[in-house]
Amino acid sequence: MHVFKKITDLRAWLSEQRRRGEHIGFAPTMGALHEGHLSLIRAAKARGDVAVASIFVNPLQFNDPEDLRRYPRMPEHDLLLLEQVGCAALFMPEVEEVYPQGEDLTVRLDFGHLTQVMEGRFRPGHFQGMATVVKRLLDIVKPSRLYMGQKDFQQLTIVAEMLRRLAMPVELVACPTVREPDGLAMSSRNLRLTPAMRSAAPAIFRALTAAKTDFLNRTPVELLKQRAIQTLQSAGLQPEYFEVVDGHTLLPVEHWQPKQFVVACTAAWAGDVRLIDNLILQEG
Ligand code: AMP
Repeated sequence: MHVFKKITDLRAWLSEQRRRGEHIGFAPTMGALHEGHLSLIRAAKARGDVAVASIFVNPLQFNDPEDLRRYPRMPEHDLLLLEQVGCAALFMPEVEEVYPQGEDLTVRLDFGHLTQVMEGRFRPGHFQGMATVVKRLLDIVKPSRLYMGQKDFQQLTIVAEMLRRLAMPVELVACPTVREPDGLAMSSRNLRLTPAMRSAAPAIFRALTAAKTDFLNRTPVELLKQRAIQTLQSAGLQPEYFEVVDGHTLLPVEHWQPKQFVVACTAAWAGDVRLIDNLILQEG
């Protein structure tokens, strides 16, 4: 696997790939890789793309400096895993390479409601920082396809909207959430869970699956949400939100309707670790 720290070196290699008629499949990450990340690389390879990953802990998307400081970093472990799944190249830049001093690369699109609800309410500035880094990385890598996980459902929705608004020539491929055997969504942050909180955390998936059953049984959404919050709290977690939303607009869903794309999204604290997860309750 080729490892690049500089944009010019990465670009030279990418040009060579394109000259050979290859398509680039790109999976941006923040490292501390697990099977969820690797599934994106596998998906790219299955489509016949030359898989390129990036590892960059983007300071712009951390609203909490402590969260940024404590974010797990394990580059050697990550390199090994990427090698094993057949990733062709890794871009691992320093902050100054991505955001050169004096250059304002901020994405200032107004995503309206999409960035105001759920994660947007609890993590001010997070999505602007995320959009800025994704746009910047896409400008550098210029992939044919961008592979991202449904684990970050709101992020996926906002990236889709950004690509549409900026008419960027890249196909967004949404990959299903990879879970531990007990249902906990894989996340780099799981590494920071205490043993007690690691045992409590699968309640998130239990709450989501129960919400799906309730929803399909036409349980009123308010009641379903109360039950979910109760499940999380009884396990010793501190829920921040549990929302049932339209999967396209992220507007709240009040009651079951046929043919609506509906997703339950939640964030909960497990001790001092903030976890997010979601489940599609009904395909559109
Ligand atoms: P992160 O390193 O957390 O920024 O995630 C990088 C990419 O991996 C994003 O597109 C995430 O949605 C995706 N991802 C993270 N965890 C999972 C998971 N458990 N299953 C599938 N994709 C994931």
